Amino acid sequence: MFRLARYFSLTSLVTILIITGLLAFFYRELAIRDLLATGERHNVALTRALANALWPKFSPFLTSTEQLNDDAMRNHPKTAEIHKFLAQAVKGLSVLKIKIYDMKGRTVFSSEAKQIGENKSKNAGFLAARAGMAASEITHRDKFSAFEQVIEDRDLISSYIPVRVDGAEGPIEGVFELYYDVTELMDSMAQTQRTVIAGVVGLLALLYVILYLIVRHADRVMKRQNDELAAANRRLEGLLEEVSALYATMSPLDSADTITEMLGSVVERLLPATGADAALIRLRDMANGGFIYTGQRGFPESFLEEAKNKPADSAVETVFQSGEPIIAPDIAIDSRVKGKLQLDAGFLSCAFLPLKVRNEVRAIIHLASTKKGYFQESQRDRLMAMAHQMGIAIENRELFEEVRAAKDTLENVNRKLDQQTVELQRSNAELEQFAYVASHDLQEPLRIITSYSQSLEKDNTCQLSDDAKEDLHFIIDAAKRMRRLIEDLLAYSRIGSRGNPFQPADVNTLLQNSLNSLALAIEDSNAVVTHDNLPTITCDSGQIEQLLQNLVGNAIKYRNGQAPKIHISCQRRDKSWLFRVQDNGIGIAPEFAEQIFVIFQRLHTREEFPGTGIGLAVCKKIVERHDGKIWVESQPSNGSTFCFSIPG
Ligand code: ADP
Repeated sequence: MFRLARYFSLTSLVTILIITGLLAFFYRELAIRDLLATGERHNVALTRALANALWPKFSPFLTSTEQLNDDAMRNHPKTAEIHKFLAQAVKGLSVLKIKIYDMKGRTVFSSEAKQIGENKSKNAGFLAARAGMAASEITHRDKFSAFEQVIEDRDLISSYIPVRVDGAEGPIEGVFELYYDVTELMDSMAQTQRTVIAGVVGLLALLYVILYLIVRHADRVMKRQNDELAAANRRLEGLLEEVSALYATMSPLDSADTITEMLGSVVERLLPATGADAALIRLRDMANGGFIYTGQRGFPESFLEEAKNKPADSAVETVFQSGEPIIAPDIAIDSRVKGKLQLDAGFLSCAFLPLKVRNEVRAIIHLASTKKGYFQESQRDRLMAMAHQMGIAIENRELFEEVRAAKDTLENVNRKLDQQTVELQRSNAELEQFAYVASHDLQEPLRIITSYSQSLEKDNTCQLSDDAKEDLHFIIDAAKRMRRLIEDLLAYSRIGSRGNPFQPADVNTLLQNSLNSLALAIEDSNAVVTHDNLPTITCDSGQIEQLLQNLVGNAIKYRNGQAPKIHISCQRRDKSWLFRVQDNGIGIAPEFAEQIFVIFQRLHTREEFPGTGIGLAVCKKIVERHDGKIWVESQPSNGSTFCFSIPG
């Protein structure tokens, strides 16, 4: 609470008192100093005048009184003469007493006779005057013996003044002491002082009144502002409470299992959050066209039953359609609330708020109060903020559910994939084992067939017809092909299961070994094989050698009627080595680029190009065992480039 005016009055009073006291003090000090200076000037001038008139005549007497005792001095005719002279000279002036001292400080004359002879040699005033300076002071005397008579209650300026002969600079011959009556001057000074102080106090009082009015006004303004601030604070606190209540309303949303349960628990919190007497959340019943209540508090059963059967309740429907709230301070006179079912249930004021999720009105929050005017248009923003908050909570919840469902699906897929991978690995291993065993076991009978057929062919003792000889030739040829096929199959099945551990190997050497194995084919075809300087990589060296041999071998085999030109290069790419085996052969159509790496897939007949269709499948398996990739870049009749990457 402000008490500015009171503080101001108090401090002003103290200030005025201090100013008045100081003023009185300093004014008096200055005035007295002035008076003293004026009095002294007056006394000096008078002394000069008196001395000028007196000294020539009486100085012989006044300067040679050492032989006379005090009484002799008092009774000396010269003393009477001086007295008479001085009394005459100061008649009508305010000079009350005159004393004359010789240079030793003896009072050689005083208008008060009994003081004649007194020794003033130690008196400070006398000493100053003897040294050439006038010395004055103001005193007050209750009783004072003046020239004429004894007077009472007087203010006096007494001055010790040196008496000089021969003008202002002449030698000092004595000291005058003059008592100048300033009682009237002092009175008039006191009078002026009073007037000045009264004037100043009056002015200060006026100033005080003006300032007081200003301060009082400021005090009132501040008080009003303070009140407004307090009211704003109260409003803020109220809002804070509402916001806290709002968050409390939302808090159960986290723990609810379904959105319907979530809305049900929100209804519980709506009453304390909004101060409503009843709350209800209605969802649209898609099947029957009416409404489903997800939760309610405070509405009587009869109302709920009737409201459910009247889905066309205008207000709810309008809010669903428009997405804008309806706030009815007085249901009785509000044309937007047509059914008036609420009035029958005892509610006088209500609010219908759209609950939007992802920009679509999903439900209506219905709040009702038994107090008329409880819900006002001014609360619109706040109520909508609450509905908005609920919408966000539901949206988050839905998103969370979607993410959870997606995560579940992903986990299921992953699980299945893992199972399939294990299954695949197992069946691959079985297949490899089967292929290995089968091809190994097939070799023996095949060898027998071949060797017996060959010895039959060479044996001249048995008379074979030409047809039989031709058939025998076919058998031998087929057996050879089968042997080739079995060897290739064996090589293929060995890659995964019978590989060697990875070790650093110089690819230049591996390539050279492959080329040695292909020496015959290279010579026959006049092939020119060139290569870059190739790196050292960590690998199964036997397999990489096999890989290069297959690729270079194919590049020679699938030539284009001209001498093959083959170049092997290598580049660094990210964290792996990219090898390229480039030829000038028949090329491959892009649509077969994937197919050729599948086992037994051939693009040509045996008559065109011999082969088993296993070579590239072996290459792919070797590269994949090294965590790399293999592909072909080619156009028909434009040569092919087989690329493979090996990490390292
Ligand atoms: P094969 O050579 O025994 O038929 P591969 O698996 O080595 O089996 O090759 C599969 C197919 O890919 C071949 O039939 C051939 O059509 C094609 N092919 C392979 N290498 C080349 C190449 N350098 N140029 C053109 N075609 C090729």
